[in-house]
Amino acid sequence: MNKPLNRLQSVQRRIENACSAVGRRADEVSLLAVSKKHPAEIICALNKLGVADFGENQLQEALRKQEKLRDPQLQWHFIGTIQSNKTRDIAQHFQWVQSVDRVKILRRLASQRPATANPLNICLQVNIDHEPQKAGATREEILQLAELADGLDTIRLRGIMAIPKYSQDQQQQLDSFCQVRELYEILKDSGHKLDTLSMGMSADLETAIAAGSTMVRIGTALLGTRET
Ligand SMILES: *Cc1c(COP(=O)(O)O)cnc(C)c1O
Repeated sequence: MNKPLNRLQSVQRRIENACSAVGRRADEVSLLAVSKKHPAEIICALNKLGVADFGENQLQEALRKQEKLRDPQLQWHFIGTIQSNKTRDIAQHFQWVQSVDRVKILRRLASQRPATANPLNICLQVNIDHEPQKAGATREEILQLAELADGLDTIRLRGIMAIPKYSQDQQQQLDSFCQVRELYEILKDSGHKLDTLSMGMSADLETAIAAGSTMVRIGTALLGTRET
Protein backbone atom coordinates (compact mmCIF):
# COMPACT_ATOMS: atom_id res chain seq x y z
CA MET A 1 0.00 0.00 0.00
CA ASN A 2 1.29 3.44 -0.90
CA LYS A 3 0.30 5.64 1.99
CA PRO A 4 1.54 9.02 0.71
CA LEU A 5 -0.21 8.43 -2.62
CA ASN A 6 -3.47 7.30 -1.02
CA ARG A 7 -3.52 10.21 1.38
CA LEU A 8 -2.67 12.70 -1.33
CA GLN A 9 -5.43 11.38 -3.56
CA SER A 10 -7.92 11.53 -0.76
CA VAL A 11 -7.00 15.15 0.09
CA GLN A 12 -7.16 16.08 -3.59
CA ARG A 13 -10.59 14.49 -3.80
CA ARG A 14 -11.76 16.49 -0.78
CA ILE A 15 -10.49 19.70 -2.39
CA GLU A 16 -12.20 18.86 -5.69
CA ASN A 17 -15.49 18.02 -4.01
CA ALA A 18 -15.39 21.14 -1.85
CA CYS A 19 -14.75 23.26 -4.93
CA SER A 20 -17.46 21.71 -7.05
CA ALA A 21 -19.95 22.06 -4.19
CA VAL A 22 -19.60 25.85 -4.41
CA GLY A 23 -18.96 26.15 -8.15
CA ARG A 24 -15.24 26.78 -7.97
CA ARG A 25 -12.54 25.16 -10.08
CA ALA A 26 -10.21 22.81 -8.21
CA ASP A 27 -7.17 24.59 -9.63
CA GLU A 28 -8.19 27.75 -7.75
CA VAL A 29 -7.02 26.10 -4.54
CA SER A 30 -3.41 25.16 -4.01
CA LEU A 31 -2.11 22.67 -1.51
CA LEU A 32 0.52 23.39 1.12
CA ALA A 33 1.76 20.19 2.75
CA VAL A 34 2.47 20.94 6.40
CA SER A 35 5.48 18.71 7.08
CA LYS A 36 6.32 19.86 10.61
CA LYS A 37 7.36 16.97 12.87
CA HIS A 38 7.61 14.62 9.87
CA PRO A 39 10.90 13.40 8.41
CA ALA A 40 12.56 14.55 5.19
CA GLU A 41 11.80 11.20 3.53
CA ILE A 42 8.08 11.86 3.40
CA ILE A 43 8.69 15.30 1.89
CA CYS A 44 10.72 13.60 -0.79
CA ALA A 45 7.97 11.04 -1.39
CA LEU A 46 5.28 13.70 -1.68
CA ASN A 47 7.46 15.79 -3.96
CA LYS A 48 7.81 12.84 -6.33
CA LEU A 49 4.00 12.78 -6.44
CA GLY A 50 3.93 16.42 -7.52
CA VAL A 51 3.67 18.36 -4.25
CA ALA A 52 6.14 21.24 -4.22
CA ASP A 53 5.09 23.44 -1.28
CA PHE A 54 5.92 22.49 2.29
CA GLY A 55 5.12 24.28 5.53
CA GLU A 56 7.28 24.22 8.65
CA ASN A 57 6.89 26.02 11.97
CA GLN A 58 10.25 25.37 13.66
CA LEU A 59 13.32 26.96 12.15
CA GLN A 60 15.98 24.44 13.21
CA GLU A 61 13.85 21.48 12.20
CA ALA A 62 13.18 23.04 8.80
CA LEU A 63 16.83 23.88 8.18
CA ARG A 64 17.82 20.27 8.94
CA LYS A 65 15.36 18.98 6.36
CA GLN A 66 16.37 21.57 3.77
CA GLU A 67 20.01 20.62 4.25
CA LYS A 68 19.17 16.95 3.84
CA LEU A 69 17.02 17.40 0.73
CA ARG A 70 18.93 20.19 -1.01
CA ASP A 71 16.32 20.48 -3.71
CA PRO A 72 15.86 23.90 -5.34
CA GLN A 73 12.42 22.87 -6.62
CA LEU A 74 10.95 22.73 -3.14
CA GLN A 75 9.11 25.81 -1.92
CA TRP A 76 9.44 26.27 1.82
CA HIS A 77 6.81 28.19 3.75
CA PHE A 78 7.45 29.36 7.28
CA ILE A 79 4.13 29.14 9.16
CA GLY A 80 5.13 29.41 12.83
CA THR A 81 5.72 32.08 15.43
CA ILE A 82 8.66 34.29 14.45
CA GLN A 83 11.16 35.47 17.04
CA SER A 84 13.29 38.49 16.12
CA ASN A 85 16.52 36.55 16.40
CA LYS A 86 15.30 34.05 13.78
CA THR A 87 14.41 36.47 11.00
CA ARG A 88 17.80 36.38 9.28
CA ASP A 89 17.69 32.62 8.73
CA ILE A 90 14.03 32.73 7.76
CA ALA A 91 14.65 35.52 5.24
CA GLN A 92 17.49 33.53 3.71
CA HIS A 93 16.11 30.01 3.65
CA PHE A 94 12.41 30.28 2.90
CA GLN A 95 10.48 31.30 -0.22
CA TRP A 96 7.37 32.19 1.75
CA VAL A 97 6.58 33.46 5.24
CA GLN A 98 2.90 33.14 6.12
CA SER A 99 2.98 34.19 9.76
CA VAL A 100 3.96 37.87 9.63
CA ASP A 101 1.99 39.80 12.24
CA ARG A 102 4.25 42.62 13.47
CA VAL A 103 5.94 45.65 11.94
CA LYS A 104 9.26 44.83 13.55
CA ILE A 105 9.34 41.33 12.05
CA LEU A 106 8.28 42.60 8.64
CA ARG A 107 11.04 45.22 8.59
CA ARG A 108 13.66 42.74 9.72
CA LEU A 109 12.66 40.17 7.09
CA ALA A 110 12.79 42.88 4.42
CA SER A 111 16.21 44.15 5.38
CA GLN A 112 17.65 40.65 5.81
CA ARG A 113 16.32 39.18 2.57
CA PRO A 114 19.38 38.81 0.32
CA ALA A 115 19.25 41.38 -2.49
CA THR A 116 20.22 38.66 -4.98
CA ALA A 117 17.19 36.51 -4.12
CA ASN A 118 13.66 36.91 -5.44
CA PRO A 119 11.43 39.00 -3.18
CA LEU A 120 10.21 37.08 -0.16
CA ASN A 121 6.55 36.05 -0.50
CA ILE A 122 4.59 37.15 2.53
CA CYS A 123 1.18 36.48 3.99
CA LEU A 124 0.00 38.57 6.90
CA GLN A 125 -1.50 36.50 9.69
CA VAL A 126 -4.78 37.77 11.11
CA ASN A 127 -6.20 36.68 14.47
CA ILE A 128 -9.76 36.89 13.23
CA ASP A 129 -11.50 35.63 16.38
CA HIS A 130 -9.35 37.74 18.73
CA GLU A 131 -8.09 34.69 20.57
CA PRO A 132 -5.55 35.86 23.17
CA GLN A 133 -3.44 32.67 23.00
CA LYS A 134 -3.10 32.85 19.22
CA ALA A 135 -0.65 34.72 17.03
CA GLY A 136 -1.88 37.15 14.40
CA ALA A 137 -2.62 40.83 14.01
CA THR A 138 -5.93 42.67 14.33
CA ARG A 139 -7.75 43.86 11.22
CA GLU A 140 -6.50 47.42 11.75
CA GLU A 141 -2.92 46.24 12.13
CA ILE A 142 -3.25 44.15 8.97
CA LEU A 143 -4.21 47.25 6.97
CA GLN A 144 -1.12 49.07 8.25
CA LEU A 145 1.17 46.08 7.69
CA ALA A 146 -0.07 45.77 4.11
CA GLU A 147 0.74 49.42 3.38
CA LEU A 148 4.22 48.95 4.79
CA ALA A 149 4.80 45.65 2.94
CA ASP A 150 3.94 47.19 -0.43
CA GLY A 151 6.69 49.75 0.03
CA LEU A 152 9.44 47.18 0.64
CA ASP A 153 11.42 46.07 -2.42
CA THR A 154 12.53 42.73 -1.05
CA ILE A 155 9.01 41.75 -0.02
CA ARG A 156 6.13 40.58 -2.18
CA LEU A 157 2.85 40.74 -0.33
CA ARG A 158 0.73 37.79 -1.51
CA GLY A 159 -2.18 37.76 0.88
CA ILE A 160 -3.38 36.80 4.31
CA MET A 161 -3.28 33.70 6.47
CA ALA A 162 -5.61 32.74 9.28
CA ILE A 163 -6.31 29.91 11.68
CA PRO A 164 -9.92 30.63 12.70
CA LYS A 165 -11.21 29.19 15.92
CA TYR A 166 -12.31 25.60 15.54
CA SER A 167 -16.02 25.09 16.02
CA GLN A 168 -18.33 22.09 15.71
CA ASP A 169 -20.94 24.55 14.52
CA GLN A 170 -20.68 24.66 10.73
CA GLN A 171 -22.28 28.07 10.49
CA GLN A 172 -20.05 29.62 13.12
CA GLN A 173 -17.00 28.13 11.42
CA LEU A 174 -18.13 29.50 8.07
CA ASP A 175 -18.70 32.94 9.61
CA SER A 176 -15.10 33.10 10.84
CA PHE A 177 -13.71 32.09 7.47
CA CYS A 178 -15.97 34.61 5.73
CA GLN A 179 -14.63 37.38 7.96
CA VAL A 180 -11.13 36.55 6.80
CA ARG A 181 -12.32 36.57 3.20
CA GLU A 182 -13.90 39.99 3.76
CA LEU A 183 -10.64 41.42 5.03
CA TYR A 184 -8.87 39.95 1.99
CA GLU A 185 -11.37 41.66 -0.32
CA ILE A 186 -10.98 44.96 1.51
CA LEU A 187 -7.22 44.83 0.98
CA LYS A 188 -7.67 44.01 -2.70
CA ASP A 189 -10.21 46.79 -3.14
CA SER A 190 -7.78 49.26 -1.65
CA GLY A 191 -5.24 48.43 -4.33
CA HIS A 192 -3.08 45.63 -2.94
CA LYS A 193 -2.33 43.01 -5.58
CA LEU A 194 -3.06 39.82 -3.70
CA ASP A 195 -3.59 36.26 -4.86
CA THR A 196 -3.38 34.18 -1.70
CA LEU A 197 -6.01 33.57 0.93
CA SER A 198 -4.37 30.91 3.07
CA MET A 199 -6.94 29.19 5.28
CA GLY A 200 -8.23 25.69 5.90
CA MET A 201 -6.53 22.73 7.57
CA SER A 202 -7.24 18.99 7.77
CA ALA A 203 -10.42 19.38 9.82
CA ASP A 204 -12.01 22.34 8.05
CA LEU A 205 -10.75 22.62 4.49
CA GLU A 206 -14.24 22.27 3.01
CA THR A 207 -15.57 25.23 4.98
CA ALA A 208 -12.50 27.30 4.13
CA ILE A 209 -12.92 26.57 0.43
CA ALA A 210 -16.60 27.50 0.61
CA ALA A 211 -15.52 30.86 2.02
CA GLY A 212 -12.99 31.47 -0.77
CA SER A 213 -9.68 29.98 0.39
CA THR A 214 -7.01 29.79 -2.33
CA MET A 215 -4.51 27.77 -0.31
CA VAL A 216 -5.19 25.04 2.21
CA ARG A 217 -2.48 24.01 4.67
CA ILE A 218 -2.79 20.29 5.29
CA GLY A 219 -0.77 18.29 7.81
CA THR A 220 -2.54 15.36 9.46
CA ALA A 221 -4.76 14.34 6.55
CA LEU A 222 -1.75 14.21 4.23
CA LEU A 223 1.09 12.96 6.41
CA GLY A 224 -0.60 11.24 9.32
CA THR A 225 -0.64 12.17 12.99
CA ARG A 226 2.37 13.97 14.41
CA GLU A 227 4.48 12.86 17.35
CA THR A 228 4.21 15.54 20.00
C1 LIG B 1 0.06 22.46 11.94
C2 LIG B 1 -0.50 23.54 11.12
C3 LIG B 1 -1.38 23.24 10.05
C4 LIG B 1 -1.84 21.84 9.69
O1 LIG B 1 -2.72 21.32 10.62
P1 LIG B 1 -3.48 19.91 10.38
O2 LIG B 1 -4.67 20.01 11.25
O3 LIG B 1 -2.53 18.84 10.79
O4 LIG B 1 -3.83 19.82 8.94
C5 LIG B 1 -1.84 24.30 9.29
N1 LIG B 1 -1.48 25.57 9.55
C6 LIG B 1 -0.64 25.89 10.55
C7 LIG B 1 -0.28 27.31 10.77
C8 LIG B 1 -0.13 24.89 11.37
O5 LIG B 1 0.69 25.22 12.37
